[in-house]
Amino acid sequence: MLSIQNLSKSFSSAGEPVHVLRGVDLDVRAGERVALTGESGSGKSTLLHLIAGLDGADGGKIMLESLEVTALPDAGRAALRRDRLGLVFQQFNLIPSLSVEDNLSFQARIAGRHDAAWHGELIERLGLGKLLRRYPEQLSGGQQQRVAIGRALAIKPSLLLADEPTGNLDEATADDVLALTRDLVARTGCGFLMVTHSLRLAATLDRHVTLHAGRIT
Ligand code: ATP
Ligand code: MG
Repeated sequence: MLSIQNLSKSFSSAGEPVHVLRGVDLDVRAGERVALTGESGSGKSTLLHLIAGLDGADGGKIMLESLEVTALPDAGRAALRRDRLGLVFQQFNLIPSLSVEDNLSFQARIAGRHDAAWHGELIERLGLGKLLRRYPEQLSGGQQQRVAIGRALAIKPSLLLADEPTGNLDEATADDVLALTRDLVARTGCGFLMVTHSLRLAATLDRHVTLHAGRIT
């Protein structure tokens, strides 16, 4: 479903190239839940940005289903994020001026993929029924992250990408949020790639890979 071959990316720092990704190979199958760890600065966020088309690669290939992400023009990458990808970050990135209900359906509506039955199921499974009229600032961190996960899954994405989604949550809340995410990912059959610093959480997914010296081990 996601297939990455020989991906490379460098940045220049004070005129010197810094080779962050040096030939990354990674496959995630539909329905597979993969944890990505690696020390700070190893390039985990960079890899997620490339998969989401938020930045361009220097070399190599990223395929999402039959779509070659690395060959898409900017407009195609934006459409990819809107229609096929769920993105969740450490900072919950909700829209402050929209209610919980509207945050949840926002991406699905602009993608033309709003599905009322699935929207209702997400609200129920994520325990958001009593919070729909609230605004993000009126929610706890765990509640905000549940909304962000609901928004990302509302489009029934091909792939859910999460960059330290539990990084701002206490341990018990992180466990709850990740358990819900695992169940919902299984329900949609999408792939799930999650960056985490927690080896304990990484061990709860189907597979755990590590980014080291620019490659996946
Ligand atoms: P962390 O666990 O701290 O989030 P990470 O594994 O996500 O780290 P990245 O954010 O991918 O690491 O960064 C990898 C390297 O690339 C770092 O050395 C960083 O300074 C560098 N880097 C990332 N983005 C840029 C950029 N836009 N310009 C220059 N250097 C960058
Ligand atoms: Mg990072």
